[in-house]
Amino acid sequence: MNISYELNQELLQDYINIANGLFYPLEGFMNSSDYHSVVDNMTLANGEVWTIPICLDIDYDTYMKVVDSEKLNLTYNHKLIGYILIDDCYMIKNDEVIIKIFGTKDINHPGVKKELLKHKYRIGGKIIVKDETILADNLKPKEIKSYFKNKGWNTIAGFQTRNPIHKAHEHLQRVALEVCDALFINPLVGWKKKGDFSEEAVLTGYKTMIEEYYTGLNIYFDTLKTPMRYAGPKEAIFHAIIRRNLGCTHFIIGRDHAGVGDYYGRYEAQELARYLQSKYNLGIELLLLSEPYYCKKCSQIVSDHTCKHTKDFIQKISGTQIRNMLAKGKRPSEIFMRKEIADSIIQLKENIFIKG
Ligand SMILES: [Zn+2]
Repeated sequence: MNISYELNQELLQDYINIANGLFYPLEGFMNSSDYHSVVDNMTLANGEVWTIPICLDIDYDTYMKVVDSEKLNLTYNHKLIGYILIDDCYMIKNDEVIIKIFGTKDINHPGVKKELLKHKYRIGGKIIVKDETILADNLKPKEIKSYFKNKGWNTIAGFQTRNPIHKAHEHLQRVALEVCDALFINPLVGWKKKGDFSEEAVLTGYKTMIEEYYTGLNIYFDTLKTPMRYAGPKEAIFHAIIRRNLGCTHFIIGRDHAGVGDYYGRYEAQELARYLQSKYNLGIELLLLSEPYYCKKCSQIVSDHTCKHTKDFIQKISGTQIRNMLAKGKRPSEIFMRKEIADSIIQLKENIFIKG
């Protein structure tokens, strides 16, 4: 009997990213041994570092139908796109695993809230793609690596973001360009929580930046399609692994990477990065950079590595403040965001932020 399962948008995106090699060495959705190893030890069962579960969750009826099957057809918009060769079917216990993934069980945490909506039943196994057209319009490591090679770029720093560029990001990017041949600015698009910047706002800001200020530089710009998990340190490592697979040799981890609210310490992601780098070969060098801020005495963007002036001189570059100004249609201070960027975003009006 042929059993089929209809993927939602996010499962489809995971499926595409597995198939295209962004989630290498994953060849499919995680089986129970990989899943538990990732949750407990931050490695796959084979010992390679991996920090975020990639699972196919299924409803109880499907679970009962496939539990003794060898394969499950996968559909999207009710069209067959491929299938999964079933390794195992398993059930997870949310109250045990959520705290390990997110470091909190708080249902106000957007990643936890979303995780709780998933089915407890999971299917692990290799995916076989039947419809290649579904993979188009997504990043393909092979194509990107050959682009880098043709350009003669040997060292490429990856930059993850979900926000329009401000002066702190610009500072980090220019630092990366000092130490690497090129920069891959790779904003994450996909599910984000209500109130986050829209994809349009992020892309508009970068388009302006690249045209006005980054013109002629060794910069590659494209979006990464995957949902935010808001899992802080563990997601920072996940982001680094994806960029390694996309051909980056370096990856920038700044303050509170992939964090939300105050669930994670300012430099907790960097601490985890240091720990994992000391213990494993991640295949990518992590650039752990301090938070840039404006110093009135130095009259420029600095960090605690390059300026020791007292806090009276310091003006933090606050994402929240920038957000609030743009929401009111006002330009933030040019100390924080370039006026061309602000203006290009302000004209998007009601499309600046993700609606609920
Ligand atoms: Zn200073």
